Amino acid sequence: MQIEAVRGDITTQDVDAVVNAANSSLLGGGGVDGAIHAAAGPRLLEACREVRRTTYPDGLPVGDAVVTPGFDLPARWVVHTVGPNWNRGQRETADLASCFTRSLERAVEVGAASIAFPAVSAGAYGWDADEVARIGVAAARAWQGSTERPDEDGHTHPSGIALVRFVLFSAPLLDAFERAL
Ligand code: ADP
Repeated sequence: MQIEAVRGDITTQDVDAVVNAANSSLLGGGGVDGAIHAAAGPRLLEACREVRRTTYPDGLPVGDAVVTPGFDLPARWVVHTVGPNWNRGQRETADLASCFTRSLERAVEVGAASIAFPAVSAGAYGWDADEVARIGVAAARAWQGSTERPDEDGHTHPSGIALVRFVLFSAPLLDAFERAL
């Protein structure tokens, strides 16, 4: 599995799944969430409303992830995850690590082989860029490691993910991810 960091716009990435740094309501927001909804078209909001109705009536919990189609995006899937909000005192690194790990799990469930992540929680939610980079890269590497472990029958299960790409919107964020890598 390849892990890389590039500077760019996540909405244009030609990967199977892009991760959205959503908020718990799943009903849209600013930052990367707004950009993904704008690029995917109005059907994405409809799909998110459906997720709320059927699966998460109280909202998606921090650290969890859920998949919808990508609609007008090049990516076939959007994995919505909710990062912890540092500015509201949500400062558990395990919650942020869970965003990356749960997103990878959800992507594998739908058969994605490539996935792009933004710097979850590094925008409006106020986490330090280096901290997000360290946690994101560690989660991706740990996931890679986990694919080598056999199950109780001795079979190994390939993760199905061949590429994890961190897509960073700014030069300082890209620097942070390059340091972490
Ligand atoms: P959060 O609320 O989880 O902090 P934000 O959307 O505010 O999420 O910010 C997360 C990161 O996504 C920020 O570093 C921001 O610069 C970045 N970002 C915003 N738009 C895009 C985009 N189109 N592609 C990739 N990253 C983006």
